[in-house]
Amino acid sequence: MENWKTRVRRVTPYTPGMQPAPDAKLIKLNTNECPYPPSPKVAEVFARFEAGTLRLYPQPDADALTEALAAYHGVAKEQVFTGVGSDEVLALAFLTFFAGEGHEARPVFFPDVTYSFYAVWADLFGIPYETKALREDFSLDAADYADAPGGVVLANPNAPTSLAAPLSLIEEIVAKNRGTVVIVDEAYIDFGGETALPLLAKYDNLLVTRTFSKSRAMAGMRVGYAVGNAELIACLKNTKFAYNSYTMSRVAIETGVASIRDEAYFRETVEKIKATRERLAKELSALGFTFPPSAANFLFVRHPQADAKTLYEALMKEHIYVRYFAAPRTKDYLRVTVGTEEEAEALLAFLRAYPPLHG
Ligand code: PMP
Repeated sequence: MENWKTRVRRVTPYTPGMQPAPDAKLIKLNTNECPYPPSPKVAEVFARFEAGTLRLYPQPDADALTEALAAYHGVAKEQVFTGVGSDEVLALAFLTFFAGEGHEARPVFFPDVTYSFYAVWADLFGIPYETKALREDFSLDAADYADAPGGVVLANPNAPTSLAAPLSLIEEIVAKNRGTVVIVDEAYIDFGGETALPLLAKYDNLLVTRTFSKSRAMAGMRVGYAVGNAELIACLKNTKFAYNSYTMSRVAIETGVASIRDEAYFRETVEKIKATRERLAKELSALGFTFPPSAANFLFVRHPQADAKTLYEALMKEHIYVRYFAAPRTKDYLRVTVGTEEEAEALLAFLRAYPPLHG
């Protein structure tokens, strides 16, 4: 007998990090959020926001935000696309550039250790993919990505490894795939590494995605964007307008603009996080942890004497949340977001007293 259960789409979802209700006891180093608030200019938007305007739909192209971002990056507004976090932007980019409508979808290449959402979107949209093993030190081999049949997606800096690839390597991959789209996910670029944005002048097959969730402290507002060739962006917009014209709320647009306009606060926040990252790295090394050099707002650490999962659980008991990924190449590591100085100190205090490290 036919039953709706036999016809329903079954997907394997992405598993986000735990997001408990805010709690003063909690030291939350598990989802790479910013430990500082967004710019005070963002708070000002809330203070003067007229709720009456919410009766009207927002501008479908989020014009004010798109224009602010275009001016910020020195590109045309036709080269910018905004969305509900870079997750939405990336999902729409997969659907637009990789799903292969009208002809057979061909495999997209991405690294074996990277943002685990890529495989989830590929499966959701029926996009075949091949993962390419990063080297032992988690670096990329550009040769693995030459002539990728369906396109390429790379996070740079990569997550959860925190490692940045040099721009020359990214360019090599973009240049060797002129017939397909290469997506460079720059969620963490403000903390280190070289942006691929200058390559846009030379290559029409490159799409760079960014987020307000990390360096701009606006994960809760859900703002992300892509910059690329105007024709690519037009295709992305068509996909968006085929499913929801109004993805960006009026509040997201206005607060996004306010954040972009406060460059000084943005720089100051990023510098504070980088300074804490360097101190945390030094102290963790002194405790015997090893990790790739981080160009992000987190460290990907392991310890020869500590089982990562056991340490993850011990930290959780002390209300210190970090991220653990059970996959074969990541199971010995913990991904630790760089928090405030105080949060880093609480983590270090715990580790200094954690017996397995000192056996
Ligand atoms: N890309 C990478 C590499 C990430 O780590 C994240 C954060 N989970 C995202 C994209 C998505 O971030 P958001 O949707 O908050 O912009």
